[in-house]
Amino acid sequence: MNISDTEIAWSILQKAGYSRTHELPEVLQTLPNKKEKAEQTIWNRLKHLTALKKRCQKHKPLLKIGVLGCMAERLKTKLLEQEKLVDVLAGPDAYRDLPRLLSLGYRGQRASNVLLSLEETYADVMPVHQTPEGHSAFVSIMRGCDNMCSYCIVPFTRGRERSRPLSSILEEVRMLSDQGVKEVTLLGQNVNSYRDFSEQHFICSEGSTQLSRGFKTVYRTKQGGLLFSDLLDKVSQIDPDMRIRFTSPHPKDFPDEVLQLIQERRNICKQIHLPAQSGSSRVLHAMRRGYTREAYLDLVENIREIIPGVNLSSDFITGFCGETEEDHQETLSLVREVGYNVGFLFAYSMRKKTHAYHRLQDDVPAPVKQRRLEELISVFREEAAKVNMALIGSTQLVLVEGESKRSSEELCGRNDGNVKVVFPKTDLPIQPEKPQMVPITSGDYVLVKVNYGQHDNKIELIWLCLLSLVVNPAAGF
Ligand code: SF4
Repeated sequence: MNISDTEIAWSILQKAGYSRTHELPEVLQTLPNKKEKAEQTIWNRLKHLTALKKRCQKHKPLLKIGVLGCMAERLKTKLLEQEKLVDVLAGPDAYRDLPRLLSLGYRGQRASNVLLSLEETYADVMPVHQTPEGHSAFVSIMRGCDNMCSYCIVPFTRGRERSRPLSSILEEVRMLSDQGVKEVTLLGQNVNSYRDFSEQHFICSEGSTQLSRGFKTVYRTKQGGLLFSDLLDKVSQIDPDMRIRFTSPHPKDFPDEVLQLIQERRNICKQIHLPAQSGSSRVLHAMRRGYTREAYLDLVENIREIIPGVNLSSDFITGFCGETEEDHQETLSLVREVGYNVGFLFAYSMRKKTHAYHRLQDDVPAPVKQRRLEELISVFREEAAKVNMALIGSTQLVLVEGESKRSSEELCGRNDGNVKVVFPKTDLPIQPEKPQMVPITSGDYVLVKVNYGQHDNKIELIWLCLLSLVVNPAAGF
């Protein structure tokens, strides 16, 4: 989301006549808002930039420091008035205002706009995509969230949920396809609750409630509009060689229509992020997630029935308010039962403004949270190893990202399930049985036979593979 927001902000600034410099560390950027460590890094960086600004005041008098995104919205007073570290602040719904804010900054004023909007989707702003190789891109499809999970600050920093009109999303994906982009990730806080109410789409698609069985919401279920299944359907038809991923979804919005579409379309990746957060129904209730352990497991079963071989990833929080050892054991058993291949695991850290901050006790001691996190990581690794080891002997279609970080003799890419694949750099025939050889480059699809799995120090596994041949991507899907 931060990358996507940065691309939108750049588009707006470019139109206003600004260009990007690499002479200094990037001054304007959106900031991660979920982890203390990330936030501390930002404070340190701002202090460093302020010192730098003072030093080069004479030969760069126009240098201004700005902060964009959630952190700007949440820490406005501290950033502007207490610490006096920034000149310009723009919240996630105020990027259109950046040129005005900067001009105020040049006149010596500290300028800020952190108002949240009920409508802003930046539908008419074509982002300046800036991935290094340019073969994958994020496309923002909705903003904000209405779910109000009790630990989460997103609804307060990014505002209410609103979806970008379908026509604007399709236009951007078509443009990316024309530019040779091979993988698009549809992006939003709660991506599968997408609902486009624009263009008189007031009649519901079939399966109108959109909710997964056994799930509920804290808000009144919305009616009408075009749904996530409509969006996936249209986007996946634009370019059959373009992979479609989406993140981050909520388990409540996986009706059968969405799952069937994922199964049917060859270019929609068979990988679903299914944030569980906890394996205990009691903790899930305190988190206000809208489902029980049983409903979540039923959903996993349904997903696996409709999409055999699907890869599942998840998010978990250890040590949430009131979590007992028994609750923690239930989380470990859920991880064992489901068998994810990737996980994002965190120890709970309370955020101001949230429901938990006002109503619950952060009563699990930090060392206990940490120990539970380590246990969870260890179980997660064991299970991920099993899932990934099952790939040995299989042939995977890999989208090449570039040189592997470990060796200039190796390339790396990702399979359909988003597992990293590392393989030797080599030339291959343009087509099987033709003598002309070409080097493999980023953005190519290659077929790779997995013959070895190596456990890296992370939760993900990295695979050392034997590459067999380049394929026509359309045939490979
Ligand atoms: S669904 Fe995600 S973004 Fe929305 S409140 Fe819950 S955790 Fe936060």
